[in-house]
Amino acid sequence: MPDERGTDAADEDARLALAPAPDHAAGVPAVLSALRHADAEMGPLRSVRALARINQHDGFDCPGCAWPDPADPHHAEFCENGAKAVAEEATRRRADRDFFAAHTVEELTAQSDYWLGKRGRLTEPMLLDAGADRYRPVSWEDALGIVAEELCGLATPDEAVFYTSGRTSNEAAFLYQLFVRAFGTNNLPDCSNLCHESSGVALTETIGVGKGSVSLADVEGADLIFVVGQNPGTNHPRMLSALERAKRRGARIVAVNPLREAGLQRFKNPQRPLGALGRGTQLADVFLQIRLGGDLALFKALNRLLLDAERLAPGTVLDRAFLYERCEGLGPLTRELDALDWDDVDAATGLAREEIEATARLAAGAERIVVCWAMGLTQHRHSVPTIREVVNFLLLRGMIGRPGAGLCPVRGHSNVQGDRTMGIYEKPDAGFLARLGSEFGFAPPTHHGHDVVEAIRAMRDGRAHVFLAMGGNFLMAAPDTDATAAALRRQRLTVHVSTKLNRSHLVTGRRALILPTLGRTERDRQDSGEQFVTVEDSMSAVHSSRGRLVPASAHLRSEVAIVCGLAQRVLDGDARVRVDWPRLAGDYDRIRERIARVIPGFEDFNERVRRPGGFVLPHAPRDRRRFTTPSGRAQLTVNELEPLELPEGRLLLQTLRSHDQYNTTIYGLNDRYRGVTAGRRVVFVNAADLTALGLADGDVVDLVSEWRDGVERRAERFRAVAYDTPRGCAAAYYPETNPLVPLDSTAVGSNTPTSKSVVVRLVPRA
Ligand code: SF4
Repeated sequence: MPDERGTDAADEDARLALAPAPDHAAGVPAVLSALRHADAEMGPLRSVRALARINQHDGFDCPGCAWPDPADPHHAEFCENGAKAVAEEATRRRADRDFFAAHTVEELTAQSDYWLGKRGRLTEPMLLDAGADRYRPVSWEDALGIVAEELCGLATPDEAVFYTSGRTSNEAAFLYQLFVRAFGTNNLPDCSNLCHESSGVALTETIGVGKGSVSLADVEGADLIFVVGQNPGTNHPRMLSALERAKRRGARIVAVNPLREAGLQRFKNPQRPLGALGRGTQLADVFLQIRLGGDLALFKALNRLLLDAERLAPGTVLDRAFLYERCEGLGPLTRELDALDWDDVDAATGLAREEIEATARLAAGAERIVVCWAMGLTQHRHSVPTIREVVNFLLLRGMIGRPGAGLCPVRGHSNVQGDRTMGIYEKPDAGFLARLGSEFGFAPPTHHGHDVVEAIRAMRDGRAHVFLAMGGNFLMAAPDTDATAAALRRQRLTVHVSTKLNRSHLVTGRRALILPTLGRTERDRQDSGEQFVTVEDSMSAVHSSRGRLVPASAHLRSEVAIVCGLAQRVLDGDARVRVDWPRLAGDYDRIRERIARVIPGFEDFNERVRRPGGFVLPHAPRDRRRFTTPSGRAQLTVNELEPLELPEGRLLLQTLRSHDQYNTTIYGLNDRYRGVTAGRRVVFVNAADLTALGLADGDVVDLVSEWRDGVERRAERFRAVAYDTPRGCAAAYYPETNPLVPLDSTAVGSNTPTSKSVVVRLVPRA
């Protein structure tokens, strides 16, 4: 039986080549790469049609990240990776019934994730019968019947898990959670559990809202921008244009990252001829090349220095009026910071004191500060306290609810924030459940459900028997791949609503179904005519997305149609729930009318979302400096520093994306911004650490992670690459390194896997 991770796949790294990493992002190479991918997948004509519609008011939302669109989009309002995301979805390749007839599941399992992703679009529902060696076509009726049979055969609804990936539209997400709650459970894990859950928890606790508090105009209007634990050049590339505009207005940028990412140094803007061909725009003015997990110590140190500066020049640094009128907790915080141990700061950050002091002086003198962050802050054991300390940093200076200032967690998936707003959450609040229940005439379950890690445990331990995923690649996105695979294999049925083939389709329950859905780029015709869906970006802007391309197959169904079809079969006209599923599936305006009555901020939804650019949801701290915390005040918090002791001969590994990757989708085998060509099994390590470990640049090693359960988690055959990162830190791509992340190693308070801090040893291969 081939290794289900696809590690045995034909050595795609045979032609691996390494070169010095560039010090800039984008430019002509980005344009050429985007066009090459588009032409290879879509051909010239479909490429022009598709690329002309990305992020346009009458077009479709990029299925990539959740960076907002400007009010007046450029005619080419997309980045290199946005073009790749569209090309992957709008590809001419097809994984149809002939393809599945020609390949057993075992043969497909032996292939790499890159190879699987390049098989093309799914064309019709496919079933893997119990004991069968390959998928076969099945009718939609029979497929939905099988799901209904298994779900209705469960002892309790809590024996089912309903996962959501962040590509799911608002309309589909709202109906999905309605169906799942009408079925009787809150088992609604989603990809947010794996990424920004720590942000949501920390922000809800401190300001009362689990979302960022800035607009695009705020980022461009700031005079000091922190980019922390984020690699925008690859993961949110259009953010570079916003940073460039801010720089042109005189802003300073502080980058905080263990890797000197090209997209944090200089930007060659392809939308400006001189930008693409010239030296480009310098971005980071200060680059704090911090140790992994050192951000809590850094922000505590900055906050201490702000207090010190205030003491030297009272009234010039802290926003005392804001602190006294709108916040609480300054006393305990001051005492905590006054007791700060600078040795702990030095050890945790690896930064020189002068660097931190210079940064604090910048912060003390700035008028409008924005802090942007991503996974580098959210996937550590102490991520929630770290983000709370970032909030302290901005509250001390009164930088919330002020133009040009605020909190900016940058979401990695196009509608991950929207899905949560629609109710995709395993811990729904009572108010939401009450409104949902009164709107649809039933009593939704109130007990909390499983998040991703808990769902894997429940499936592993036999407490869940049916797994259904709305999009995504659960197996490869989740931590502890072998444990997750074993959990999925224990299911009676695994179901994936997908656009393309991925490894989660190959590691299955006793029976498995693949339900092919329309892509974001494709026309969606229903009874009342052509439909559009809506999404919400990182800055709470809700806008429409209208598919424009001919669907890849006549057998595809929209996410909304699949959910409605399923609900009808499973709930079978359950009189308790007043939902006319066919009517909702036939006209999405009807869905939006119901959303408007259940979710605050969506009043007149249908009218407002038809305006160019849509509308922005309310955010009390941003709009009125009003904090919806229990006390009605913003919370300054005390966050204890827990120094991390790295055992001798061990490194702290962060998992990350290459530039030719989006989440678990592998677009290509290059990572242009880190000098890697034609390969993925590389581990970036500080040269002095390699020497100390008795290794040399280019040695082939296995990565072995260590965790208190004593289980040996191994990822094989990585090329050690001497790279510019602090001592003790290492980096390698996921999903290849997700097997190393222990299931039980999660962030305190958010249960997010600690994918940015995995203790590993490097074992030379003979
Ligand atoms: S920045 Fe993100 S949303 Fe925008 S085009 Fe690029 S990948 Fe798509």
